[in-house]
Amino acid sequence: MTYKIDHDFHIHTKLSSCSNDPKQNANALLSYAKKNGMSALCVTDHFWSEDVKGASNWYEPQNFAHISQILPLPQDADVRLMFGCETELTKNGILGISKENFDKFDFVIIPTTHFHMEGFTLSTEQLESPKTRAKAWTNRLYQVLDMDLPFHKIGFAHLTCHLIYRNETENLLETFNLISKDEMARIFTKAAKLGVGIELNSGDMKNAQAHPDLFKPYIVAKECGCKFYLGSDAHHPDKFDMSPDAFAYGVNYLDLDERDKFILI
Ligand SMILES: [Zn+2]
Ligand SMILES: [Zn+2]
Repeated sequence: MTYKIDHDFHIHTKLSSCSNDPKQNANALLSYAKKNGMSALCVTDHFWSEDVKGASNWYEPQNFAHISQILPLPQDADVRLMFGCETELTKNGILGISKENFDKFDFVIIPTTHFHMEGFTLSTEQLESPKTRAKAWTNRLYQVLDMDLPFHKIGFAHLTCHLIYRNETENLLETFNLISKDEMARIFTKAAKLGVGIELNSGDMKNAQAHPDLFKPYIVAKECGCKFYLGSDAHHPDKFDMSPDAFAYGVNYLDLDERDKFILI
């Protein structure tokens, strides 16, 4: 059975500093789900746990007291609304959520590709060239996969995100050229074994539509047995409008079926 576009597990609300949009609220989420026949959504505001040292000034206010203001989420007969977060991984390999705090969430997104937070997520040396960024892309994934975490409720966000080389598409493509299929296979074999979800981000799918080489990591991930979830990464309601088509493009291109779906229990 073809992979059904029935969920979105990466959604920001007005509580994320980069949204701050009163229109991006629980009701807007529900109407997006209903309009597109989705049965499960997960709220994933940016989060840095107060019991973990080393937050940047931007992350520090986005603690649990702040993001839990969205609770309780509305109950709906047709749509399961879940509570998650998108945390962070620093250049020193510190994860912005302690192991104990995973219990507070249905789902935790770990972004390894926020390369735009220069100095915080990556050092100046790591940002030097496509070659150093390619190495950072693989190393950061290994760093997470080597941790002792509840991987059944973890997703890897936007793996081919434009933030890897902001506004420099040629360099972004070159970065992925420099990561061999074998290297990707080593990473995704491990990810599949641990049960990590791989995100099909609507922005990434749209970008890959224009530059099909960017599908390479997802093709390898599928071959290695990884499971995929959909994420609009919406910060404002307009992203809800463009995401279902982008999801459909990615799902079709990768020829996914329901067995390839990451399920959140
Ligand atoms: Zn992100
Ligand atoms: Zn996000």
